[in-house]
Amino acid sequence: MPHPKLDCFLESLPSDEYLLKRDVPMSALTSFRTGGPAAYCLSPKTPDAFCRAIAFLTEEKIPYLLLGHGTNVLAPDEGYDSVLLLTGELKETAANGEQITLGAGVLMNSAATFAKDHALSGLEFAYGIPGSVGGALAMNAGAYEHEIGELPITVLACDRNGSLRTLTTEECRFGYRESIFQGEGLVALSCTLTLTPDDKDAIRARMDDYLARRKKSQPLEYPSAGSFFRRPTGYYAGKLIQDAGMKGARVGGAQISEKHAGFLINYDRATSADIRALGKKVQDEVQKQFGVTLQREVKYLGEEYD
Ligand SMILES: Cc1cc2nc3c(=O)[nH]c(=O)nc-3n(C[C@H](O)[C@H](O)[C@H](O)COP(=O)(O)OP(=O)(O)OC[C@H]3O[C@@H](n4cnc5c(N)ncnc54)[C@H](O)[C@@H]3O)c2cc1C
Repeated sequence: MPHPKLDCFLESLPSDEYLLKRDVPMSALTSFRTGGPAAYCLSPKTPDAFCRAIAFLTEEKIPYLLLGHGTNVLAPDEGYDSVLLLTGELKETAANGEQITLGAGVLMNSAATFAKDHALSGLEFAYGIPGSVGGALAMNAGAYEHEIGELPITVLACDRNGSLRTLTTEECRFGYRESIFQGEGLVALSCTLTLTPDDKDAIRARMDDYLARRKKSQPLEYPSAGSFFRRPTGYYAGKLIQDAGMKGARVGGAQISEKHAGFLINYDRATSADIRALGKKVQDEVQKQFGVTLQREVKYLGEEYD
């Protein structure tokens, strides 16, 4: 029990504004399918409810972690004994001319489909990225030479004090798999994107093409978090790992994918510790053989900027 006031606060929350679950295995919340139980999983259903929860937790100095759809994180095997704030209930979608507004909890597949249904182009690249809109903003998710941060965007966010802020594209400080939403405690609650009108069938064809390319090159049949490492300048992480002779290498139940060496996969009942150890082994080997430092793209939940 991390704090005497926490249970009281959580008990007082109206169910039409918050979804609360206790002792949820994080293996059920993350695409790696690893991680121990989170004591409290709180999913606010509106931006205001999110801000009130954050204001209380900050005021009472109660630690919390933020999770979107869990597709770019590794959760601790030992679990988490405080509050996991989830964005999954922020599901707003709205269209207005060339603009669409998406709640942080909307999945990128649904976002791309929503844009297509409104004959708007710009999110095709996101079709097949398995995370949420909020996670995509935090990670500046991208594929096939596009990324979310290249679009004209306005983000509604909540700061550590529970105050709402509106940020422009420039203020989001998007970089390669980076944004202001990493490290400053800002939670993206929703965003409004300006897209380009186009023919629905042409948009659909591009989405299908991107998805087909993914299915061909990625080990989607195994749990993973996508590319485990960032792309080092001048190299491809997967190629370096393959050239280091590490395709198929294992630690416990974790394996370097035979199909795509940039993916670490949960091959057979891996623990997060297995995956971490394999990631370290890869980093050491690539450093030794090629003098290149591989940096992780995947976040270790609770250890970085959360
Ligand atoms: C099979 C597979 C393929 C993938 N392909 C790609 C790809 O092509 N391109 C790509 O970029 N990524 C890819 N990924 C990685 C992942 O899907 C993206 O990084 C995605 O944007 C993460 O979203 P999420 O909701 O799952 O974030 P999470 O994993 O839940 O969170 C990631 C980080 O963002 C933070 N965060 C989450 N939501 C918010 C928010 N609302 N506000 C502030 N911070 C937040 C979390 O605290 C955490 O630190 C892939 C993953 C898998 C499993």
